[in-house]
Amino acid sequence: MKKIFSLIIVLFLSLFLAACSEAEQTEEKTSSEEETSTEEETVEKLEIYTTIFPLEDFANKIGGDFVNVTNIVPVGGDAHSFEPSARDLIEIAEGDALIYNGAGLEGFVDSIIQTLESEEIEIVKASDGIVSLNEENNQGHEEEEEHDEHGHDSHAQEDDEHDEHNEHDEHSEEESEQEDTHDHGHDVDPHVWLDPMLAITLAENIKDTLINLMPEQEELFTANFDDVKAELEVINEEFEVMIDDTAKDTFLVSHAGYGYWEDRYGLKQIGIAGMSPSNDPSQRQLKEIIDLADEYGLEYVMYEQNIPAKVAEIVKEEVGAESLYLHNLEALVKEDIENNEDYFSLMRKNIEALAIALQ
Ligand SMILES: [Zn+2]
Repeated sequence: MKKIFSLIIVLFLSLFLAACSEAEQTEEKTSSEEETSTEEETVEKLEIYTTIFPLEDFANKIGGDFVNVTNIVPVGGDAHSFEPSARDLIEIAEGDALIYNGAGLEGFVDSIIQTLESEEIEIVKASDGIVSLNEENNQGHEEEEEHDEHGHDSHAQEDDEHDEHNEHDEHSEEESEQEDTHDHGHDVDPHVWLDPMLAITLAENIKDTLINLMPEQEELFTANFDDVKAELEVINEEFEVMIDDTAKDTFLVSHAGYGYWEDRYGLKQIGIAGMSPSNDPSQRQLKEIIDLADEYGLEYVMYEQNIPAKVAEIVKEEVGAESLYLHNLEALVKEDIENNEDYFSLMRKNIEALAIALQ
């Protein structure tokens, strides 16, 4: 009886041990599998550098698991005035591609191109193929007020950029000149990504770059691009629906980054700062902005996520306006990351804010 009992114990023990070692083996297996799969992933990921959030977002959406995207302008930064450090440059040089907006946005891009020219990294201008606003008829910094294609006639004062307005001229086109007066030193409007239809070209250039670098994933990159394109077309439709439902067509905003909405949707911005946020208005321009806001009965000043509100605050108080937010998408702020925002969610917030501002 005792013998049988101990036999049973031995049996149990051996079964137990066998089970243990089996479990150990499978554990080993999975961990070694994981190792190989992470190895594969790091080998196959393209290192992509971008300058503004829409490019980062599109590169992530189109490249999926095959890209590791880093935006070189930090969270809360400003692509207009950003300067990469030597350390940034060394890191970027190791990458597969640097994708920048162009159209005069990134002041640092010429020096980056020069520095990286001899490296293997591909440097891509995402706005290639887009005709920027003011580009066609602009022959120099001093002549950017010309809008020949609109057939304007009151340009006699162009020589003196600060004196070019008939303050009582009610033609709405005068406003677009109003905002242009702040933009000394800018040939073109760089903010192409805020027009969802032009953003399709940005996304397409990104797709082509990724296919170039990783031809074996062409099918996936193309399918992902098609999704992005379809969603951008939906945003465009939502914009048009909003425009149809609103009474005003003019809004007051902290920097003149929204010229492409005039071209696409007939929306006119009065920018408190110029196309580059560091171009603060003069006293005289400030007065003109306030007069225009009164004239058009504007009840809101639209602040932006990464632009100091100081001057906009003055206008808001003078006009007795309330505040709303527009997101220029140039760079995310911390809150956007916490909220998991992407191009589409931010543009939808813009459409909602405009629906209120343009009532
Ligand atoms: Zn801007």
